[in-house]
Amino acid sequence: MTEPVEHRRLIIAGTGAAGLTAAIYAARSNNEPLVLEGDEPGGQLTLTSEVENFPGFPEGLSGPDLINNMKEQAKRFGAEVEHGIVESIDDSERPFRVELANGDVYTADAFIAASGASARTLGVPGEDDLMGYGVSTCATCDGAFFRGEDMLVVGGGDAAFEEAHFLTKFADTVYLAHRREEFRAEDYWIDRVQKKVDEGEIELLRNTELLEIHGSAEEGVDHVTLATNDEGYPADKLDDPDTETYDFDVGAVFVAIGHTPNTEYLASTGVELDETGYIKTHGGDGGNQTATDVDGLFGAGDVVDFHYQQAVTAAGMGTKAAIDADEYLESQAEAAAEAESEPTAEADD
Ligand code: NAP
Repeated sequence: MTEPVEHRRLIIAGTGAAGLTAAIYAARSNNEPLVLEGDEPGGQLTLTSEVENFPGFPEGLSGPDLINNMKEQAKRFGAEVEHGIVESIDDSERPFRVELANGDVYTADAFIAASGASARTLGVPGEDDLMGYGVSTCATCDGAFFRGEDMLVVGGGDAAFEEAHFLTKFADTVYLAHRREEFRAEDYWIDRVQKKVDEGEIELLRNTELLEIHGSAEEGVDHVTLATNDEGYPADKLDDPDTETYDFDVGAVFVAIGHTPNTEYLASTGVELDETGYIKTHGGDGGNQTATDVDGLFGAGDVVDFHYQQAVTAAGMGTKAAIDADEYLESQAEAAAEAESEPTAEADD
């Protein structure tokens, strides 16, 4: 068995708003957290150019600046931030054994999973290059930058419908492209969007897929290439004579095809995950809301919350997780002190 590199009182996985806020609180409670930064440092916030809805910054600030500020604040109180991707956690013993992808092993008395969820992307040409320059995975964050433009939303689930509806505030027309005829979104969203369709603010492009995004970092998105086929999934049927491929002018593209929570490393633990992989925390009122089914292991941010997904709500959950972890660590220390002070059977004799 690999020897641990180091023992830590608290390890936090993730350097998004949840992880770094947890780190600020945990460091201030003398829990000396080690914060592990994965492959998407800063999380979803760093995908957005300007954050205008984080309280306390009336002029707004960039996502990366907000994350860097949080990181500096956490370090100021003694948090250590290191690159490391958690591969697995052994919760069968205490302390936890936390194994990283590079083979390093740490042990920890408590662990906060704040590893976020990664927005799924399409993988079409232009998407990566123009991400942050007219292509976005977050309408709430970026919609206002494209005021007056025609906008394309890709997806057919609740998120795509909610985003399309939201974007009507800014867009000239919102086009919603879905790869098949039937939508996955709930009736609630379909009805709300249909109203906007009736009012001429949204146009539904069924059986339509995005093949390519054209533009430049300087000028943003210029146009896209779409494909349609009445049988659905046109991108798989480009040779079919019934598939039509055409260029379409839009000034922004919002990809809303779901998120994948980063919880693979929890698969072999007792942490309960929902059917799509999000962590189930205890929730409810009072303390311990961020507790999972594994004592000492807490969850915060987008890895738990598929609904609100905002920087400020993630930060709030990070705060709760740090407080819950602190209370857990205190109770463990008290129990250990009590056990130590209890006279042994031998001493009694
Ligand atoms: P989702 O329900 O998984 O929907 C993803 C959509 O993207 C589906 O319509 C899917 O098409 C499409 N899609 C996936 N991969 C694609 C690809 N490669 N190319 C083109 N289209 C693709 O994800 P979500 O909308 O993000 O919702 C996730 C969860 O959050 C759901 O439980 C949802 O109810 C919840 N949510 C709720 C609200 C709300 O109620 N306010 C808002 C947002 C999210 P197919 O349908 O063909 O598979």
